[in-house]
Amino acid sequence: MIKGYIDSIETMGLVDGPGVRFVVFLKGCKLRCLFCHNPETWTRANATEITSEELIKRIHKYHSYYQDGGVTFSGGEPLLQPEFLIDMLKKCKMINLHTALDTSGVGIGNYEEILKYTDLVILDVKAYTEKEYNHITRFEDNMEEFNKFLEVCQKLNKPLWIRQVIVPGINDTKEYIIGLKEYLKGIKNIEKIELLPYHELGESKYEKLNIPYILKGTKAMDQEKLKELEKILKED
Ligand code: SF4
Repeated sequence: MIKGYIDSIETMGLVDGPGVRFVVFLKGCKLRCLFCHNPETWTRANATEITSEELIKRIHKYHSYYQDGGVTFSGGEPLLQPEFLIDMLKKCKMINLHTALDTSGVGIGNYEEILKYTDLVILDVKAYTEKEYNHITRFEDNMEEFNKFLEVCQKLNKPLWIRQVIVPGINDTKEYIIGLKEYLKGIKNIEKIELLPYHELGESKYEKLNIPYILKGTKAMDQEKLKELEKILKED
């Protein structure tokens, strides 16, 4: 019996992959991104323990809803529970469901096996230089693990949806977006690129968890400015 530690489940997810999706948010993440709005997922505290058999039964119950959608594993960081994740992905494929992984690319290995059963990778690019990556994530491993994961995605030709959070005062500049565009040109199989606006909605969670909120005072990303940056990203 393989057990997973999950934070929550969404049965009608519409943004984390194509179509209507069953989304599983797994517990645990090492990155500690400055803008994270789910700090409660960083550790396994208050996790719901569930076996892969139990979880696939729940997914199966709603199977007909997901015919044009599928199942997405998100977090936290799903790559930190490789055994459970692989078992779940295999079980989803056995019942012909599309599988997606919403990830920062920083796990603990076994990426080839995980990706064998993954149809789509939604990859959160935190930054494209080590300096910015280390500033945003406060993770001492630089971009090494992220690059390792991306390499396997490229080797296995996995379709990618790229996501980048835009934070005022950190990466909301034309120069940053031009650099991002250049960086992404070197990556194949990108089907979609999304710029996500920073918002302050997670701030109250930090207070409750007694974790200092480093971005305190940073305003939500201006929608008009975000549109301008999206335009720059799409220009030829
Ligand atoms: S990778 Fe995601 S869950 Fe982990 S700290 Fe960053 S934003 Fe939060």
